[in-house]
Amino acid sequence: MPAPTSSAAAAANAVQQAASSSTMAPLNADLLQITLNENAPAPDFEKLVFGQKFSPHMLIVEWNHKSGWGVPKIQPYGPLSLSPAAPVLHYASGLFEGMKAYRSADGSGKIRLFRADKNMERMNRSAARAGLPTFDGEEFIKLIKTLVRIDRDYVPHGEGQTLYLRPTLIGTPDTLGMGVPTEAKLYCICSPVGNYYSSGTGSKPVSLLARTDVVRAWPGGTGCYKLAANYAGATRPAMDALLEGYHQVLWLFGPDRQLTEVGAMNLFVVFRDQGVDSESTRYQVATAALDDGTILPGVTRDTILSLLRAYKAGNVQIEGLPKPELIDVVERKVTMDEIIEKAEKSQIAEVFGSGTAAVVCSVDKIGFEGMDIPIPIQADGMGAVMRTMLREVTGRQWGAIPCPEWSTVC
Ligand SMILES: *Cc1c(COP(=O)(O)O)cnc(C)c1O
Repeated sequence: MPAPTSSAAAAANAVQQAASSSTMAPLNADLLQITLNENAPAPDFEKLVFGQKFSPHMLIVEWNHKSGWGVPKIQPYGPLSLSPAAPVLHYASGLFEGMKAYRSADGSGKIRLFRADKNMERMNRSAARAGLPTFDGEEFIKLIKTLVRIDRDYVPHGEGQTLYLRPTLIGTPDTLGMGVPTEAKLYCICSPVGNYYSSGTGSKPVSLLARTDVVRAWPGGTGCYKLAANYAGATRPAMDALLEGYHQVLWLFGPDRQLTEVGAMNLFVVFRDQGVDSESTRYQVATAALDDGTILPGVTRDTILSLLRAYKAGNVQIEGLPKPELIDVVERKVTMDEIIEKAEKSQIAEVFGSGTAAVVCSVDKIGFEGMDIPIPIQADGMGAVMRTMLREVTGRQWGAIPCPEWSTVC
């Protein structure tokens, strides 16, 4: 009987050989086949709860290690047929992305994607880490654009409302073997979602429970990839935080209790260093660096850093921020000790999270070891940097601020 390791090694060899052979078909959007949903219900944008309603079509492409990517299909939204042994169900051999389609507010009917190439790059990095097949991101974007055009009536019209896109890649062979999956499905489903800022609790700042007893990610782990495996373990700590009266978990890491992320968002802390008068107060916008693999490289995080750096360099005009010479933008470690010390000295100006779902989300309190650290919030529930970034990022997403390098029309 062959040792289990040798059969796994054989599978690994087969997958590797196939991947390097020219007989493997690349992902090709030109092969698309479309089956329209004859029973599509009329769009319904009443009471949009995140991820509860879906558009009538989905995109799906199958892959196997012998022939590569198959024929991409747009077909009616519906259940998948899956082996009960599929690795995604046992070993979490799966990953996802979160993107949105934005309907222009200018009445032109244009629908846009924002920095979709970044999502494709990240999805391919996740796939490589999970031993799942990679693909040509530009081809996948073409397919997603076609899907959005077909389901354009399901892109909501209301302010701040979008069609949320969920590209997904899962390992599907009919085997419990622990090797790299020899079959996979790449798909994308779409869900009309409401405006985070007008949907109940979303309009209010969130309170965080900083936890040292649970860890989201660690150096050398998979925290910097959007792997399904990272999220199951985060749900129970999130529920516990809710039961303790906080909205989200502030994930800490290491003996020095570094602030890493909040829920499934990146975290920004704005420090302020009072000068002799308000004209000379200096600000530092800080977020964790991406160097140790514990931080998910958010597209929104990158967008905010890019805008702030362009502002500081004098390459873009942005109203509502401190003068460029008074604001620094840094990727660095921030620890709980620093938060406690600077909160006491009133040197924290604001704290906010960032991610595709909310864009930005303000924090008004951090619970830590039995005490609550209050974080300043202005009357509209935001801080100056967050408010400005909300306007600047959404302006570019919806097309109100022209931004051809980041925004593409479907
Ligand atoms: C998706 C995600 C983010 C935000 O990434 P965006 O690309 O900005 O949406 C941040 N942290 C975690 C853990 C995430 O899963």
